[in-house]
Amino acid sequence: MLSTMGRVPLTLTHFLDRAGQLFGNVEIVSRMPDKSLHRTNYAAFHRRARQLAQALQHAGLKAGDRVATLMWNHYAHFEAYFGVIASGGVLHTLNLRLAPDEIAWIANHARDRFLIVDDVLLPLLAKFRDQVAFERVIVVSLTGAPVAAPDTDYEAFLASAPHNPTWTYPDMHEDDAVAMCYTSGTTGRPKGVTYSHRSQVLHSLAQCLPDAIGISGRDVILPVVPMFHANAWGVPYSAAMLGIKMVFPGPHLHPDDLLPLFESEQVTISCGVPTIWLGMVQILDARAGRYRFSPQLRLTVGGSAVPEALIRGFAKHGIEVIQGWGMTETSPLATIAKVKQTQGDVDDDVRFATHASQGYPIPLVDLRIVADDGVQPWDGQAVGEIQVRGPWITAAYHEVPVAEESFTADGWLRTGDVAAVTPDGFVRITDRTKDLIKSGGEWISSVDLENAIMGHPAVAEAAVVAVPHPKWAERPLAVVVAKAGQTVTADALRAHLAPLFAKWAIPDAFAFVDAIPRTSTGKFLKTKLRDQYRDWDWDAAARGDATPPIAA
Ligand code: ADP
Repeated sequence: MLSTMGRVPLTLTHFLDRAGQLFGNVEIVSRMPDKSLHRTNYAAFHRRARQLAQALQHAGLKAGDRVATLMWNHYAHFEAYFGVIASGGVLHTLNLRLAPDEIAWIANHARDRFLIVDDVLLPLLAKFRDQVAFERVIVVSLTGAPVAAPDTDYEAFLASAPHNPTWTYPDMHEDDAVAMCYTSGTTGRPKGVTYSHRSQVLHSLAQCLPDAIGISGRDVILPVVPMFHANAWGVPYSAAMLGIKMVFPGPHLHPDDLLPLFESEQVTISCGVPTIWLGMVQILDARAGRYRFSPQLRLTVGGSAVPEALIRGFAKHGIEVIQGWGMTETSPLATIAKVKQTQGDVDDDVRFATHASQGYPIPLVDLRIVADDGVQPWDGQAVGEIQVRGPWITAAYHEVPVAEESFTADGWLRTGDVAAVTPDGFVRITDRTKDLIKSGGEWISSVDLENAIMGHPAVAEAAVVAVPHPKWAERPLAVVVAKAGQTVTADALRAHLAPLFAKWAIPDAFAFVDAIPRTSTGKFLKTKLRDQYRDWDWDAAARGDATPPIAA
């Protein structure tokens, strides 16, 4: 028997209209390159996104055509998020931190037709422009400088649309593509993921649930995560869905710029990768009591494992850290680390340990652990690969044949993440397959070691990588950054780790550095560390006179 329910497609244009109609006077604030604050609201956002859609159609954009962006996080990027979709096009956010040749390769692979670019990023565009045949380049003048021909000024482009308030959206199917992101290629050639109306509508609904991130219309969101990194974790869609005040940081992502903005705009949620917050917590410690944040302020953190020390560090300042796990391929939110009702009242130690796990799947996400002997029972504690599927989990890559190293025959995404599920039902990631360390036949978790080392009071950051070893095949090497004004020694770290790990798991090599290299999405760049320390001199280290062979 068929149901009597209407078949209304789940489309993001509903969010756009809802925001404009119900929350027109809610603010959208953006930090400009000169650090001034640009203020607009959802009424203007609604009007201008629809104008952009009409201008794109007027310029010849056809359903499914890609419009690339090369932009920081700000109001115009937010408009592009919805304007491109409303025209029937597909928004392709280019990662401005990749090498110019890589950006060109990705834009060509996606066959981007138009580009919207910040004027402050024109020098970057100049480095690869001759490699990509954008039909039209539309420039957002954030500095106020005039836009030079042959490029089109964004404001003039909006004004070029026949201004028609009763304009209706083109026909849309909920499975139509709306956006594209490429994986960063940390572990291979970048691959394109295409999101649909349906996937992003459902992802928005699920991530706002109180038992997921818990986002409401009363929140004020500042996405530090770039809008080119997995759609800023879906925040722009969720924000429009609920008409939430947005605060965009523009190009200024240093804690010295973010903290005053958290305070002045009374931000209640921010999100970003752990490396952003590792620096910030040190500054907060040094300036305890300086800022008057919203008492609701919480941080959603993911993209790599969140050290328990970071969670405890922010808790001292009354700020909760909410860990999520996901990937570009999973829209991205797949799991959330929150205390479950079945745990009852928990003390701080249990709460922090729970928050330091990768949590459990949010509704509609199926997750399983698969080891060599097949699918493991849930919470069976066996270590294996995480596989996922669900309405916002990709089932293929753009124009790449579906391959068994990425997807299983029964349709699950192979994540390449290695994890076990605890008896309480919490996922604990031990590593990415490629980051695992195998020493004398034993697996060593780089994530566990990093988290423990970052628990030392004098350590700001740590990354642990496998280094070739003549006897043990591989040994862990820890690359450590001390907190400002503090020193830490290898002996002190060994003593700190001794009660926590088996003797063979403790790194025998420590390199102390000023900074750890980052990926284009701000994570520790372990491939580079492995290259840098590949020729570590174990004999010299054993004699105690090694100077680390650090290639620049
Ligand atoms: P990339 O890291 O290649 O730039 P993604 O941002 O899509 O691309 O990264 C997804 C990966 O990030 C996951 O497969 C996992 O290895 C890692 N990751 C994401 N969230 C977490 C988390 N909370 N804990 C540990 N690892 C995480």
